[in-house]
Amino acid sequence: MTDYTGIDNEVTAIADEIWDLARHVWEFAEIGFTETHSSAYAAALLEKYGFKISDRGIGGLDTSWIATWGKGKPTIGILVEYDALPGLGNDTQPTRTPAPSGNTNGHGCGHNLICSTSIGAAIALKTHLEKNKIHGTLKVFGCPAEEKMTGKNYMAQAGAFKGLDACLHNHPGPLNTVWNFHSTAMVDLIVEWNGTTAHAGVSPWLGRSAVHAAEVFLVAANMMREQMLPTARLHYQILDGGVAVNVIPDYARVLVRYRGPSAENVTQYKNWLIDMAKGAALSTQTKETVTLITGTLDVVGNDPLAKNMYGHMERYFPIDWTDDEQAFAKAIQKEMGLEEKGMADAMAGMPTSKVEVGGSSDVGDVSWSVPTMGAVYAAWPQGISPHQWGCTACHGMSIGHRATVQAAQSMAASGLDLFTQPELIEAAQEDFKKQTKGQPYKSLNELPKPPGGEMLPDERDRYECCIHGALEHFGITDAKT
Ligand SMILES: [Zn+2]
Repeated sequence: MTDYTGIDNEVTAIADEIWDLARHVWEFAEIGFTETHSSAYAAALLEKYGFKISDRGIGGLDTSWIATWGKGKPTIGILVEYDALPGLGNDTQPTRTPAPSGNTNGHGCGHNLICSTSIGAAIALKTHLEKNKIHGTLKVFGCPAEEKMTGKNYMAQAGAFKGLDACLHNHPGPLNTVWNFHSTAMVDLIVEWNGTTAHAGVSPWLGRSAVHAAEVFLVAANMMREQMLPTARLHYQILDGGVAVNVIPDYARVLVRYRGPSAENVTQYKNWLIDMAKGAALSTQTKETVTLITGTLDVVGNDPLAKNMYGHMERYFPIDWTDDEQAFAKAIQKEMGLEEKGMADAMAGMPTSKVEVGGSSDVGDVSWSVPTMGAVYAAWPQGISPHQWGCTACHGMSIGHRATVQAAQSMAASGLDLFTQPELIEAAQEDFKKQTKGQPYKSLNELPKPPGGEMLPDERDRYECCIHGALEHFGITDAKT
C-alpha cells in the first residue's frame, strides 16, 4: 500500500506558490491566443523548480510550451491551461461587480485553477520523485486557447503528446468527479460568399446577393438535421449578413459547427456542408469560400485511470468549506435565482467511459494519442454552469485557493501511482486500445497551425470547454447569466 503522506506534504509546501500563480493568471485574464503573461508566469514557476522549457510555440500557437523533468520510462504528461473568457471580468464579490483592474475578461471557467492545480501537482510530483529516487520523465504541457478549441488539438497534430504513457488533466466545476465520458468530435467551418452589390431599389437585377446564398445554405443545413444521428449536433451563427437594407449585399459569412460521435461521422457531414456551400453559391450566382477553423476529436474515457483518480479524490474531497465560503456561494446562488445549496459537500457518482455527452473538448486529441484522465472538482457553487460572473468571483478568492490545493494533491497522488505502478499503466493502455479500437491518432485539422486569433469571431458562442460535457451528464446544462 503506497503511503501518500510524502506527496501530500510536497503540495502543502508549495500551497502559497500555487495560489500566487492562480491569482496572477486570474488577474491577467487573457483570452485564447493572447495569454502571453499567463503562459510566461506559469512556465517561469516550472523553470524555478528545475523543469526545462522547450517547444515554445508548438502547434503554431505562440503561447504553448512543453516543460520536462527526468529521463527514461515511464513518461507521464500533465496538461495546463490558462485562457480566460471575454465579458466575464468580476471582482471577488458575490454580486455582479466589475473587476477593480477594469479588465472585462474573466476566469469564468476557472482555467487559472487548471493552471495552478496542474503545475502544483507537477512540482510536488517532481520533488517527491527526486527525493525518493523514482525514475521516469514528467512532461507538462502549456495548452493555449482551450475555449476556442484550438489548443491541444493543434499541439497533438504537431506530435506534442507522442511517447507519453499516460496523461492527466483537471477542471474545476460545481461538483466532484472524474472526466470519464465519451464526448463529441467537432469541426468549425467559416463559410463566406462573395456576390455583386447593387442599389436594391434602382437596379437590383444587377446584383447577386451573398445573403441569399447564406439563406439557401442554412435551409439545406437545417434539412440535413433529419438525417443526423441522435448524438450529432449542428449550430450556426450568422457573422455577416449585409450592411444596409437598400443595398444588395455582396458579402455574407456564417460560422457553422458540426458535432458527431466519431471523426468518420464528422468528416462525412463536414463534406456534406461543403457541398451545400457550393450549391448555395451556384443557385445564387455567387462564389463560396469554406475555411476549416478547427477540428477536434471525441474524448475517449479510460476506466482504470478514472477509478484510480476517483479513489484519490475520495480521500481529499469534499472540501470542508468554511461558513464564510458557504455564505459566499449561497449569496451567488441567491443573486442568480437558484436554490441556495452552497458548495458541493459530497463526491458525485463516478461516470463510466460509455456515457455519451453532446459537448466537445480539445482534450479529445490528447485522449486519442495517449490514455488520459481528468479530475473535476468543486470550485464554484452547486447548480451553476460555467462561463458565469459568479464562477470568476469564486476562482479569485479562498474557494478557489482551497480547491486548487486539494485538487493538486489528488492529481499528484494519481501521478505518483503512474510512476510506481506499472500495472496501472498496462491496464490504462489496454483500455485505451479498446476505446480507440486500435485506430491510430489522426487529426481532424487540415492546417498545421490554426488561423490567427483575429480570424476567429469573438462571440461568446464559439467559447466552449470540456467541462460542459461533464456537467451535462449531471444535468447541469442551463447557462444562466
Ligand atoms: Zn473550461
